[in-house]
Amino acid sequence: MSPTPTSVVICRTVAEMHQAVFQARSNGHTIGCIPTMGSLHQGHASLVRVAAERHNFVVASIFVNPTQFGPSEDFERYPRNVKSDLVILQQAGATHVFLPSIQEMYPVGVASTIHITGVTEVLEGASRPNHFEGVATVVARLFQAMLPDEAFFGQKDLQQTLVIKALVAASSDNAVARTKITVLPTVREHDGLAMSSRNVYLSAEHRQQATVLYRALVSARNMISAGETSRIAVEQEMLGTLSKVGDLTIDYAVAVDADTLRCPTDDLPHTIALCVAVRLGNTRLIDNMLVEHPR
Ligand code: AMP
Repeated sequence: MSPTPTSVVICRTVAEMHQAVFQARSNGHTIGCIPTMGSLHQGHASLVRVAAERHNFVVASIFVNPTQFGPSEDFERYPRNVKSDLVILQQAGATHVFLPSIQEMYPVGVASTIHITGVTEVLEGASRPNHFEGVATVVARLFQAMLPDEAFFGQKDLQQTLVIKALVAASSDNAVARTKITVLPTVREHDGLAMSSRNVYLSAEHRQQATVLYRALVSARNMISAGETSRIAVEQEMLGTLSKVGDLTIDYAVAVDADTLRCPTDDLPHTIALCVAVRLGNTRLIDNMLVEHPR
């Protein structure tokens, strides 16, 4: 364990992490954790701030997890900025950061993985084969390392939150099964674009065009609030808004049940997740909004 200029304590191994957690517990502290891939922004900071309101030991992990990237995805070029991450973490109230190497997380390679069924087959799971297997596997390992009482995730990655809740519900490992999962709202730029580490990939022109995701979600939400009950009509509204941007390829734009991420009928469910995924140039962007049907 080494103190840093920011005073956030860095733990690089599971053993160091456990030592810090055991010490904190013996002082009666509770543990809040925030798993991240680094390149932190105010979305991540909002999770840390809430964790710091509830726990005296707040650990964020920074680990760009290779197993959740597909072979043609951006693992190599994913932005890495540990120095500025440490500043953001300290300002938001983190006490510790877990910064493991790939070797530390996968000491014998990827010998076994965790496959969650039910919520992983659709949307991101359909577009990114094995992505959620990588997510579930690494989150279980991160929980085993950080031993949290509560773990904080962003609604920005809605499907991921459902996968992690399913992981916790299905786990026979106490370190995973005992973790309370808390989901916090998406933090947005002033023009509505959801903050994301990947936004730095966007050219100035694409950055401006990217606001269309938020506009598509808002127009769909407005339709539902005005009483629209047809899923197809709402999805067509989102597709219509998104398709006005020339450079953009739509992966999906759907209105689905917020728990199952499916909607087999044209009748909208009571709690709706509006979910969009697009590609702008080489950058894949996702966003979502939850809406209660007024009926
Ligand atoms: P990542 O570093 O992208 O893996 O994200 C780490 C955590 O931060 C995940 O739980 C994300 O859902 C969450 N997160 C990412 N972007 C935002 C945002 N704009 N607002 C709130 N949480 C976010």
